[in-house]
Amino acid sequence: GNSNHPLKRINQEIYKYGINRHREIEDLKKLEAFRREFLADVSHELKTPVFAAQGFVHTLLDGAIDDKKIRKKFLKRAAKSLDNLDSLIQDLLTLSQIETGEIKMHFEHFNIVSIAEEVIDQMESKAEDKNLTVRFDSAYETPIFVHADADRIYRVLTNLVSNAIKYTLEGGVQIGFEVKSEKVLVYVKDTGVGIPPEHLTRIFERFFRVEKSRSKEMGGTGLGLAIVKHILEAHNTKVSVISTVGKGSTFSFKLPIGQSAEEMEEELEEER
Ligand code: ADP
Repeated sequence: GNSNHPLKRINQEIYKYGINRHREIEDLKKLEAFRREFLADVSHELKTPVFAAQGFVHTLLDGAIDDKKIRKKFLKRAAKSLDNLDSLIQDLLTLSQIETGEIKMHFEHFNIVSIAEEVIDQMESKAEDKNLTVRFDSAYETPIFVHADADRIYRVLTNLVSNAIKYTLEGGVQIGFEVKSEKVLVYVKDTGVGIPPEHLTRIFERFFRVEKSRSKEMGGTGLGLAIVKHILEAHNTKVSVISTVGKGSTFSFKLPIGQSAEEMEEELEEER
């Protein structure tokens, strides 16, 4: 019939080509819009601490410096704003390096229990300031070996535990593991303020905060969970969260089980 007519087929090809070009252009437009929005967000976020520090310094120069008490107070606040600015720039760099693949992942076999122990040690004083505890969910007598990038997983745990402390008013934070055949589930559980269900997917977006002012006051950059998400994506895994407002949240992710140094040695022996 008619549908095999060469001219008609050529017309169909041209039509398909047109649609594909149209899609490509739409994708480019979306990417461009995203880029523009991201730049606007970053500029806005950078402005906040700069504006604050500027305010304190100029007020000091305008005469407040003569008052000994005010001088110290304002200098402290300016320093805090500059510290926030520093964390923000650090986090932005980390995020862009992970995204562009600039940081190579270093996969190795390591004991995640001892990494978690280091995180607990590092975070303890922060928790004690708020009368909170940070500990293991239960005693992990034997090491749990995983195959992953140890430094990045350390970062993931630090971000999750630091959030758990930030958004918890009483009780504490627990790190735990569940070993299931080839994988281990790692979780960070808190007894904190929780996250409303409508925000659960959005918290991993850059600069998204459930309560903008409160989170900022606590020194958050709004990038912590975006970094967590990206690091875990680079491990071909993802982060999950369950949360109840007023009760607390649990963040978890899976990692492949690795081998201990002895096991790897044994395997080599067998191959010989
Ligand atoms: P921030 O620097 O603001 O903490 P994050 O990307 O780490 O940024 O987290 C994004 C938002 O998700 C936070 O502002 C907070 O509203 C919410 N959030 C993250 N972790 C928790 C938690 N453990 N409990 C309650 N809310 C949390």
